[in-house]
Amino acid sequence: MLSEIITIGDELLIGQVIDTNSAFIAKQLNKIGVSVYQITSVQDEKTHILQALKDAENRVDIIILTGGLGPTKDDITKKTIAEYFNDTLVRDASVLENIENIWKNYVRQTLLQVNKDQALVPSKAQVLMNTLGTAPGMWMEKGEKAFISLPGVPFEMKALITNSVIPKIKDKYKCPFILHKTLLVYGLGESTLAARIEAWEDALPEHIKLAYLPSLGKMRLRISSKGFDRAKVETEVQDQINKVLPLIKDEFFGYEDEDGNEEAVIGNRLTKIEKTLAIAESCTGGKLAELFTANPGASKYLKGGVVTYSTQSKIDVLGIDEALINKYSVVSSQVAEAMAIKVKNLYKSDFAIATTGNAGPSKGDSQAEIGTVFIAIANNNGVFSQEFKFGSPRARVINKAVNKALELLQKEIFKN
Ligand code: ATP
Ligand code: MG
Repeated sequence: MLSEIITIGDELLIGQVIDTNSAFIAKQLNKIGVSVYQITSVQDEKTHILQALKDAENRVDIIILTGGLGPTKDDITKKTIAEYFNDTLVRDASVLENIENIWKNYVRQTLLQVNKDQALVPSKAQVLMNTLGTAPGMWMEKGEKAFISLPGVPFEMKALITNSVIPKIKDKYKCPFILHKTLLVYGLGESTLAARIEAWEDALPEHIKLAYLPSLGKMRLRISSKGFDRAKVETEVQDQINKVLPLIKDEFFGYEDEDGNEEAVIGNRLTKIEKTLAIAESCTGGKLAELFTANPGASKYLKGGVVTYSTQSKIDVLGIDEALINKYSVVSSQVAEAMAIKVKNLYKSDFAIATTGNAGPSKGDSQAEIGTVFIAIANNNGVFSQEFKFGSPRARVINKAVNKALELLQKEIFKN
């Protein structure tokens, strides 16, 4: 089963909006065994959209479009699809009712004709009700091929994909079961890892795929397989994992969750062992706290955090001894450890993590070499820290520090 994604909008082609819709849709399609053959972005322009539809129809079975369903003149997807299908637009009563409801409950302005016209859909289309917005999703068919048009607004698109499109595709097409297992392998570089598992990799059966996914100091190994017999796929993949684990035992410590979200793995673990976390950030500027709070259920284990960015704030907010900073500098293991201990006490948590570093490009209150970061972890037994040299540029140093902090924390909380 092959599919294509076409995202529509001038904003995508001038770089004003990043096409995150495609990434989301591709992920969901892959999960149900539908391969994505191509992703295309086109302007809000009739001939361009028509051409993209025609090209896609020649290649694949399922075509998903997003964007251009708004009430304004620049949004022309619906009209263009109607033209492509030699169809006319008709008013859909249920969509109109949905629009009127949205207006009644959330919008204080008058319902204009352009808003009512959002209820116009091609007569051949099956409406996918969008309760979060006024533009409905539309499902059209041509022989065995499906054309699915969705609003561009990411959260509306996501709800429609999850609740309507994916179930409908699974219903209509026979999809194989796809299994990805991602192993987190920390300390090894790509080539060292490859050398270690070479014999195993060479002996992998053709239909089991292996991918190396290095990313800013962490390494992931993805093993994938698909087939119509779910039990068989699962057993085969597990057998391969059982063979490779002894080769990487010292550096392996867990599986990544389905969405690649390490914070969720840490959060679930803390929730399970009923322990809490506090965070003191300097060079990571709140990124760690942001990552944890982005997950639902973070309140169960995250007590809180501080961004003590300036040296003075480390003294004033966390109560770090000024003499300690003067003696060792603000970017030092001593200060990182003190931050972790202080924030742990402040929030009365079981674990605390702290970062302090010099992300560059110029040096701040510390003479530490640019790219130097100290990460400390405190638990109920004590505190430890590690020094890292993350080089440059700034964004890379910060992201590496975030990844490393998550890694250290994950290792720590999975110990007991
Ligand atoms: P609306 O009814 O809100 O006008 P629409 O279907 O016409 O919906 P667009 O106007 O094309 O959608 O886009 C709405 C918003 O959704 C844009 O402002 C943009 O921020 C976001 N958006 C559109 N396409 C994408 C995309 N491919 N990836 C991420 N965001 C997108
Ligand atoms: Mg648009």
